[in-house]
Amino acid sequence: MARHFSELTTMRVGGPTREFVEAPTTEELVEAVRAADARGVRLLVMGGGSNLVVGDGGWDGVTVQVRSNGIDIDGATVRADAGVDWDRLVAVTVEHGLAGLEPLSGVPGTVGGTPVQNVGAFGTVTSDVLASVTVYDRRTGATQEWPRERCGFGSHRQSAFKHTDRYVVLRVTYELRRSDRSVPMTFESLLSRLGIRAGETADVADVRRAVLELRRERGSIVDPADTDTWGVGSFFINPVVANVPKAAEASPRYPDPLGTKLPAGWLIQHAGFPPGYGAEFGSGAVTLSSKHALALCNRGGATTLEVMRFAAHIRAGVHARFGILLGPECHLVNCSFDDELAAR
Ligand SMILES: Cc1cc2nc3c(=O)[nH]c(=O)nc-3n(C[C@H](O)[C@H](O)[C@H](O)COP(=O)(O)OP(=O)(O)OC[C@H]3O[C@@H](n4cnc5c(N)ncnc54)[C@H](O)[C@@H]3O)c2cc1C
Repeated sequence: MARHFSELTTMRVGGPTREFVEAPTTEELVEAVRAADARGVRLLVMGGGSNLVVGDGGWDGVTVQVRSNGIDIDGATVRADAGVDWDRLVAVTVEHGLAGLEPLSGVPGTVGGTPVQNVGAFGTVTSDVLASVTVYDRRTGATQEWPRERCGFGSHRQSAFKHTDRYVVLRVTYELRRSDRSVPMTFESLLSRLGIRAGETADVADVRRAVLELRRERGSIVDPADTDTWGVGSFFINPVVANVPKAAEASPRYPDPLGTKLPAGWLIQHAGFPPGYGAEFGSGAVTLSSKHALALCNRGGATTLEVMRFAAHIRAGVHARFGILLGPECHLVNCSFDDELAAR
């Protein structure tokens, strides 16, 4: 029976994939990719589907879901297969007395998805501790281990693996610290939860516990019983602007090599879209999370078109108020809210 992206992704929308292959080992992953390329069919590689929105028409090709599952720990060096559940990796490293990944506890998805977006939370990004990424290059057929410097990590969630389907991430290697103390903490909500001041460290296991608690409260851990988590996390990327518009003068701001970064959630909320907004829009099947304004949530039975319409509506409101055009942080496949915006 055809598999639908509405059951393969955390946003729970999207049509069928023509073919679906699970790859339980690295060898089978490479083989599945090679076979699809040899047949000349379109290929979509996915992990947990937690950052992916696919159109209602689905995917007219092969979808390969990465399920490779090995973790190898050698001193403070950790190698994990692309299909390993991200939070399982964090839990295992903390249990082994290794520090470095604990602020990223609870991020949904797989190890292979993290270098694509250079996943980040609570002031830490994976590239802080990532040593290398082993990739399969679909153009050359070669498997290579790329050191971090080659991975193109930059501000704005950039990486060499984003906006291209040339590389398949097979394995990621992290260089952690053998310690029960975290890195110095800076993130306000985490500091107060841990009862420490900025720049102080905390017990690694305590940081993991506090992060999981805070994420649960914010709807940032996928929970089938809570539709606030039926999304892709942050739907829009935090914009970087050359000049902060007058209307956004009160916004928190962060220095960025390309200008000033503004929180998309603040802009959305101050453009008149508070948490929970959306019941009155369309059929009400897509709304903002009731816990914060940056997540778009499927309240049950939504279509991708409804998600795109709602995203275009929010983007148009933010643009009208601040002159800033928000872009997606998630990966849109066979769908776009640019078209929706243009059609208005
Ligand atoms: C409730 C919730 C909270 C979230 N919180 C955060 C957060 O705090 N911080 C954050 O950064 N993100 C967050 N996210 C987004 C998401 O968890 C991350 O982007 C995650 O890394 C995606 O991994 P995945 O395996 O699910 O990737 P998928 O969604 O399956 O794929 C995402 C993209 O990566 C590509 N890809 C996946 N695996 C591979 C591979 N092996 N090789 C090549 N390409 C691959 C896909 O083709 C696609 O383009 C959140 C999402 C949800 C639903």
